[in-house]
Amino acid sequence: MTNSKFEPGLDFAHQLDTNDDLASFRKAFVIQDPNLIYLDGNSLGRLPCRSIDRINQVVEREWGEQLIRSWNANWYQSPQRTGDKIAQLLGAGPGQVVVSDSTSVNLYKLVLAALEMRPNRKRIISDSLNFPSDLYILEGCVHLMNERSGNKSHLSLEIIPSEDGISMDSPTLLKAIDDQTALVTLSHVAYKSGYLYDMVAITDKAHQVGALILWDLSHSAGVVPMELDRWGVDLAVGCTYKYLNGGPGAPAYLYVRQGLQELAHSPIWGWFGQHLPFAFEMEYQPAKGITRFLAGSPPILSLLSMEAAIELILEADIWKIRDKSKLMTSYLVYLVDNLLVPLGFTLASPRIADRRGSHVSIRHSHAYQINRVLIEEMKVIPDFREPEDIRLGLAPLYTSYREVWQAVDRIRRVVVEERYTRYPFKRLTVT
Ligand SMILES: *Cc1c(COP(=O)(O)O)cnc(C)c1O
Repeated sequence: MTNSKFEPGLDFAHQLDTNDDLASFRKAFVIQDPNLIYLDGNSLGRLPCRSIDRINQVVEREWGEQLIRSWNANWYQSPQRTGDKIAQLLGAGPGQVVVSDSTSVNLYKLVLAALEMRPNRKRIISDSLNFPSDLYILEGCVHLMNERSGNKSHLSLEIIPSEDGISMDSPTLLKAIDDQTALVTLSHVAYKSGYLYDMVAITDKAHQVGALILWDLSHSAGVVPMELDRWGVDLAVGCTYKYLNGGPGAPAYLYVRQGLQELAHSPIWGWFGQHLPFAFEMEYQPAKGITRFLAGSPPILSLLSMEAAIELILEADIWKIRDKSKLMTSYLVYLVDNLLVPLGFTLASPRIADRRGSHVSIRHSHAYQINRVLIEEMKVIPDFREPEDIRLGLAPLYTSYREVWQAVDRIRRVVVEERYTRYPFKRLTVT
């Protein structure tokens, strides 16, 4: 298959780099080895240079010198302040996003809050492309609610299957959302295939039948623009260490639409979500607004270094990021079709750029071994996802077109030279 927009040679990649508006952002990241092609920014984003300065400042000055006074100066409001910055990437006004905990814990809090707001409905709808941790949290919430009500069939989780494991048939999904649905919850971009959901259509359908909608933005925030407020999204969660480059274990965030905030309750009644934590009252009373979804002390070091990373993304226009991401993934799909499909690979991502996030998966029966050779011998870091997908994540702020070309060329060589046959099938723990 050919696409006349692109050409197969390295020269063409250089031409695309020359025309790239965002090329200058690459300098804002620590790149120790320019020959190492990092295609896993959708799992752990690169380190922004400014995060080093920020974390040094926080450790040496704010903690080392100012000690507990820093809570008043700069720390106490940081979950809300940083939440408001992330909100700008999500099309959300201030006071609706707060940084806290991990995505999994935030999902737990918002799912239980949603179920409390729809007590008489019987179902949660999700799908088989969703991230396993999200499905585990949903299973746990259903289990808890059924134990609590003493009725094993009080609530169920319906996981709509994807036929090809790549995309979701919209009519099938929309049809499953009915007047017994309490909550619909999906990943905005599927973690394995990169499939991008139609947030507007699905949100509208949920609302037509009186259900609530909760989107997991982990794989879309920072690369896919969205309008949470305008589209009427109720609830959302997401992590900050992928395209937001917040760093390993950086805290996640959650969004609750303004109009729901006084009706929604966190199931974790901690002091940071209390209305007056430092009054040390004996009884819990939720704080006003989004703050009620905090639980305990925020992880200040990683929160504040993450804040610096968010500020960097805000300097680049999210629409420009999306344009580059679509062009780059399309270029990658073109190279895969031309150079890798003849070697036994298949595309495991949507073909239409508008239905893709910023990563592309390719499938091969020896994917695990090929992925190992790429990391051990070829200076390419993608990641492997069971059973036979290699994910190639393109981060528009630091991935170059030249790297995309070189990565495909190195993958091609691994297969042509049969280098992968020296590696066992046995899995390591991460990637
Ligand atoms: C990465 C990711 C997460 C991460 O969850 P944590 O609890 O923050 O580790 C959750 N959901 C999705 C869809 C993800 O892609």
